[in-house]
Amino acid sequence: MTQSPGIRFLPRPGHEPALHDRLPARVPAEALRPGALLMPAPVNAHDHGYGIRTLDFGCVDDALEVWIPSLRLRPRTDPYLEALVAFSRLALTGIGATMHCHNSLNVDRLVEEAGAVIRAASEVGIRLALSCPLLDFDPWAYDGGPQRLRRFLSTEDWSVLAPSVPRYAPIARQIEAVLQVAAENDNPMIDVQFGPIGPQWCSNRLLETIAEVSALHSRRIHMHLLESPRQRRWLDRRFPQGVVRYLDEIGFLSPRLAVAHGVQLHEDELDLLAERGVQLVSNPSANLRLRSGVAPLPTMTRKGPEFAIGLDGTGFDDDQDLWRELRLAYLLHGGREVTRSLTAADLFDAAIWTGAKVLNMPAAEDYVVIDYAALIADSLFDDVDETEVLMARMSGAHAKGLIVAGREIMRDGQLIHIEFEAARRELLEQARGDLPRLQAERASALALARATRDFYTEWE
Ligand SMILES: [Zn+2]
Repeated sequence: MTQSPGIRFLPRPGHEPALHDRLPARVPAEALRPGALLMPAPVNAHDHGYGIRTLDFGCVDDALEVWIPSLRLRPRTDPYLEALVAFSRLALTGIGATMHCHNSLNVDRLVEEAGAVIRAASEVGIRLALSCPLLDFDPWAYDGGPQRLRRFLSTEDWSVLAPSVPRYAPIARQIEAVLQVAAENDNPMIDVQFGPIGPQWCSNRLLETIAEVSALHSRRIHMHLLESPRQRRWLDRRFPQGVVRYLDEIGFLSPRLAVAHGVQLHEDELDLLAERGVQLVSNPSANLRLRSGVAPLPTMTRKGPEFAIGLDGTGFDDDQDLWRELRLAYLLHGGREVTRSLTAADLFDAAIWTGAKVLNMPAAEDYVVIDYAALIADSLFDDVDETEVLMARMSGAHAKGLIVAGREIMRDGQLIHIEFEAARRELLEQARGDLPRLQAERASALALARATRDFYTEWE
């Protein structure tokens, strides 16, 4: 520990007030300014690395299943540059570690694209968990796949869309690609994980294989689970014993597993996840923006499972600000009683310690430097609880410094190793270059979204 006057250090937000006379040894004195507050950097425990955000390619918020078809309009860009911009944007808000669920579905390109994503994270200087996509079941519509939508599409739209029905590589080939990505990575700042997209998009055989290889290789799994009400309906029919019970029967549930969303989980399923040591990653804004609902965080605080917080590419102001995500969770789950049902300590524990567990990284070894003086510029008292100030006022704009694994990657609000604006401009240029293709495909993507809505309207 070193001494530094005028600087606050908040090692355990919500548990105790900031220290005024000591700092962790691994933080260089030149990283700090008078009036700064230093604390462990929160972890973004579920995301997809969107350099170009969804709204920018016309993917307007909607119910999850209706929203998914418009992801087809994602511009084709260099995966390295896409990830570089996404990770830089996070680092600029003081986030030093993120879960990246890779979205590319082409198994032949996975190794190369994963390499590009890993390189981007290393250059920005953040820690990364890379969840490699695995799927082989029911694209476009639950309970039968693309054919279920045919009736809701014109003959012309169907003939345009049909060639894009995904053809999945054999399970063994998909698993082999993930293991190859893992074998080629020797960077301790990167953790490669199995990423089954969600049980509704995986056959039983695939889920069972993943459970086996995860145990065999002691490699973690990161999976979306029970996000939307329609997933609940369909999985209840597919697994009469309940999808969580089924996952337990095949040995899928273990401390090596994190599930994202879990909005539709029943209480006995939460109990089972807790018993098996599974972690859940909640994404409060995404759950509201894609109309999935509100996850039962207060229940989880009481009896588990442990939870972390993620942005899922669809944060509250669409600006990838995890601080606002924490604020939303805090406000949503405070309850109506004289004592809060979810405390600031619960939330920061989730974002710092459980987040690190989900990423398979050491906890609380990275630090964000906050311009705390700006947050309390009008305060009459200088001893107001720092954690409450952060909960009420903190945003990414007040994050000025970031130290990851002892290395400074942002100072005075500027990334040290990356020219963010130049990277962003280049990415946008690439995206605009793909505009003719996107314009040509837009009508059919919207037709698919409409057909999806019509299908589920009738199905419900
Ligand atoms: Zn997601």
